[in-house]
Amino acid sequence: MKNILFIAPPAAGKGTQSDLLVQKYGYVHISTGDLLRNIDPQSDLGKEVNELIKMGKLVDDRIVLELLKEKLLSLKSSEHFILDGFPRNLTQAKELEELLSELNMSLDLVISLNVPYDIAFKRALGRLNCPNCKAAYNKFFKPSKVNDICDACGSTLVSRTDDNPETFKVRYEAYMESTMPLIDYYKNAGKLVEVDGVNKTFGRIVSVINDD
Ligand SMILES: [Zn+2]
Repeated sequence: MKNILFIAPPAAGKGTQSDLLVQKYGYVHISTGDLLRNIDPQSDLGKEVNELIKMGKLVDDRIVLELLKEKLLSLKSSEHFILDGFPRNLTQAKELEELLSELNMSLDLVISLNVPYDIAFKRALGRLNCPNCKAAYNKFFKPSKVNDICDACGSTLVSRTDDNPETFKVRYEAYMESTMPLIDYYKNAGKLVEVDGVNKTFGRIVSVINDD
């Protein structure tokens, strides 16, 4: 088994692929966003984070790395991880490398999910959900039979995306700019594999994981 990092633009389906790997192989999905959200407010680190948020400051890499370290130390030796949300830039990639070597662990595989801009755009902005039965639709790829009405229960569908076409474009471009150096870094380290994020994605990921 390999420890994995996904690099993927917004709405590329990283979450879905991670869930499938958790189900199939028992991977532990480590999201630094979740670690921060679920931090114990009574712990020293929790108090520090709350203080920063109160002052309107950003949580710095040192805090994220400490949370990550705690989480990695809690893994059983048989468990492998999928890392999500960190690193997002070259500095963080180097910090991660140091942390992992300190813990005698390694990042074995970096999967770059390739999804063309227009498809990521439609995935993000087309999302619709049923507030009643939780059925998921996409107005471009998986529309309901009647516009905005749930096929299963007849409720009015809602869009929960925070994005509009402009914010999505900004987010996507910011992502491309900050992760390009990351992609080069992992390519040079011989860890990067690019995977088609549109067709037969999970099958391709499985074969990459089992490839030695
Ligand atoms: Zn419904």
